[in-house]
Amino acid sequence: MRYFFYFFYLCLILSCSQCTNTPKKNNPEEQATQVEPEYLYHLNIDSLHIISDNVQNGESVGEILNTHNISFSAIDKVARLSRKLFDLRDVKAGGNYTLLFPDSTLSRPLYFIYEINKVDFLVAKLTDTIDVYLDKKKLTIKEKTGSGIINSSLWYAMEESNLSAKLVNILADEIYPWTIDFFRLNTGDRFKVIYDAKYVDGEFIGVGKVHGAVFQTNGDDYYAIAFNEVGGFEDYFDENGNNLRKFFLKAPVSFTRISSRFTNKRKHPVTGRWKGHFGTDFAAPIGTPIYSTADGTVIEASYTRYNGYYVKIRHNSTYTTQYLHMDKSTKKLWSKKGIKKGKKVRQGVDIIGYVGRTGQATGPHVCYRFWKSGKQVDPFKTSLPPSTPVKKEKKEEFEQAKNIWIDKLNAISYPESDINQDSIQVISMY
Ligand SMILES: [Zn+2]
Repeated sequence: MRYFFYFFYLCLILSCSQCTNTPKKNNPEEQATQVEPEYLYHLNIDSLHIISDNVQNGESVGEILNTHNISFSAIDKVARLSRKLFDLRDVKAGGNYTLLFPDSTLSRPLYFIYEINKVDFLVAKLTDTIDVYLDKKKLTIKEKTGSGIINSSLWYAMEESNLSAKLVNILADEIYPWTIDFFRLNTGDRFKVIYDAKYVDGEFIGVGKVHGAVFQTNGDDYYAIAFNEVGGFEDYFDENGNNLRKFFLKAPVSFTRISSRFTNKRKHPVTGRWKGHFGTDFAAPIGTPIYSTADGTVIEASYTRYNGYYVKIRHNSTYTTQYLHMDKSTKKLWSKKGIKKGKKVRQGVDIIGYVGRTGQATGPHVCYRFWKSGKQVDPFKTSLPPSTPVKKEKKEEFEQAKNIWIDKLNAISYPESDINQDSIQVISMY
C-alpha cells in the first residue's frame, strides 16, 4: 500500500498587538499613607506566613496535613467535605499546594490550598469550623496577532503543547476545514491571525477565541471573521458574509492523511482480489477521535467481520455517511456517550469512535463512506450543499465587524523567510 505524505514546516510569529499597561504603584504620597493589602488565592495574606511546595510521589494530602499538626479527625472532615468538589485522593505528584500559617512558628496552618489546574484551586479552611471550597484564579485575556508561512515539506510530529501548533489546530479544524484542503498546502502558503491569549499570574496558559484570520493559498486570500449570527452561537464568515461552515467536513479525523481514495477498481489489500473501493481511507494513529462530518442521527453503531466496529449516520433524506474499522475501545465510548441508533450527533463536536484496525483492515485508519441519494459516491468529487450567508437583518452589523477585523488583519505583516530566529516558532503541519 502506498502512503503519500504531505508535510510542512511552518513558522509562526506571535506578537502582542494590544499591550495592556499595568499601572505602576509608585506614587510616594500614596505609599506613605496606605499599603495595599496583599492577596494570594483571594485571601488576605498580610499577617500570614506561607509554605508552598509540590506533592511528592506517593504523598497524600492527609500526610501533608498531618505533618503540619492537623488532627486526623480534621483531616477526615476535609476529605469528606472536599469529595463533592474535588476528590483529594486525585492529587497529582508534582501538583502545587500552599499552606498559610498565622505566625512564623509555622506550627499549624490556617489554610491548605491545592491547585487543581492552572486556573482552579481548592481551599481548605483549617480553623475550628472546617470549610472547603473551590475558587478560580483571575484570567487575563490579551488580544494578540500572529502570522505564519509554510516553507518546507518535511514531516514532523505534532506538539500539542506548542502555542503555534494549537493555533494551527484551530485554523485547520475549526475555521477552515470546509474551505482549505490542509492535505494540499504549498510551500509559501501563509496566514495571519488575531486571537485571544489567556494568562494566569502573568503566565500564558492557552489560546482563547480567534477573532479573525486570513489564509493565503494558491494565490487566493481566504478571510475568516468570527461573527455571532444567532444568539450565543458563533461562526466564521468570509468577506462576503458567507458562512465558512459547510454542510460537510472534509475529513472525519483531524491531522491525518488520505491513504486510499475512492475508486471503482482496486486490488483489495487483504483478499488480493480486484474490486472497487467505495470509500476514502484516512490513516491516523489508533485512538484518534473520529467525528461525524455533518450533523445527523446515528442509524447503526455495530460490529461486523468486515467493517469491524463502525457507525452509520443519516444526515438528511439525501446524505448518509459511514465510518469503519474503529478501535475496540470505541465500545466503551458508545455506552458512555449513548452512541446508538437514534442518537443525534453534531458535526466535528461529538466523538463517535476511535481510529482502529478492527475488521478487514491492514493498518490503523478510518474508512469513510458516503451515500448521496442512496448511491455510494466520492465526496471529494461530488457537489455538496452550499453554505448559508449572514442573514439580511444582521448584514449591517456584520459589515461593521468585518471592516474592523479586516483592517486589523491587513495591518499585520507576513513573516519573511529570513526572519530573526528568536521570533520564530517552528511547528508542524501535514
Ligand atoms: Zn476503505
